[in-house]
Amino acid sequence: MTGSHIFGLELGGTKCVALRAEGHHIVETIAVPTAEPGATLGVIDDLFGQWQRERQPDALGIASFGPVGVDRNRPDWGFILNTPKPGWAGTDIAGRYRRLLGVEVGFDTDVNAAALAETLWGGAVGTSCNAYITLGTGIGVGCVVRGEPLHGWQHPEFGHLKARRMPGDVFRGNCPFHGDCIEGLISGPAIARRSGMAGEQVEDKHPVWDGVVHDLGELLAGLILGLSPERISLGGSIACARPWLVERARGAVIASLGGYFDNLSKDINRMIGVTALGDRAGPLGAIALGMTRIAAGK
Ligand code: ZN
Repeated sequence: MTGSHIFGLELGGTKCVALRAEGHHIVETIAVPTAEPGATLGVIDDLFGQWQRERQPDALGIASFGPVGVDRNRPDWGFILNTPKPGWAGTDIAGRYRRLLGVEVGFDTDVNAAALAETLWGGAVGTSCNAYITLGTGIGVGCVVRGEPLHGWQHPEFGHLKARRMPGDVFRGNCPFHGDCIEGLISGPAIARRSGMAGEQVEDKHPVWDGVVHDLGELLAGLILGLSPERISLGGSIACARPWLVERARGAVIASLGGYFDNLSKDINRMIGVTALGDRAGPLGAIALGMTRIAAGK
């Protein structure tokens, strides 16, 4: 596995990143803005074709925004499902690149992939259950249980959980499906709408963060109750730019759970933290998915 040559593709809400790696050492990444799928994937087709002429990869891993088809036994495996992103719903991603490159393809949500990378190389090494939350354009949650990304009927979508609202917070939320689900309350676009300014310009002491901390605390408390993860890693542009959010969210979790777990205060700093992989969590997630296909073929 160490000497494997792996291509990766991370499909995100604002950009798509193509990369190639030796083992899990990333040697090149190229970002392409996420536009209509034909234009964006056309650029990536050319790039992969060029890289393949230099050296055939052993596998490809694709980590995508969701929802996506993750059951390899179903006809919608490898497809992007019902996304509001214009043109992307019903797009076959994994099949396209399996045909183009002639290699095995690992395919999952970007956050399940990042959770897998955390398990292999980040802050969740040695855990039997961990979760990864991205705080960015959207709010996504991935889970890995005993080394495998969590799949069932579909894949986890905790970002769309509806939680208790902060008393006095009347923001209606901006999720097109649910209004005030967690994503509708604390995604980058939601923070921008709440504050009336671009998210990155909002000062750390702006009151909008009180609501974000409360709602993030509810999400984390729900994850702890539902999955009992040993580690929850937070990544994405908002978490990486404002690591103090994590510290404040720990306090919100303890308040939300009301003393039910008497060992939570002792464990919470180890349990909840910013991703150890930084902005490489996503790209490394794609590489981790590629590695799972090499391992499956052995
Ligand atoms: Zn929602």
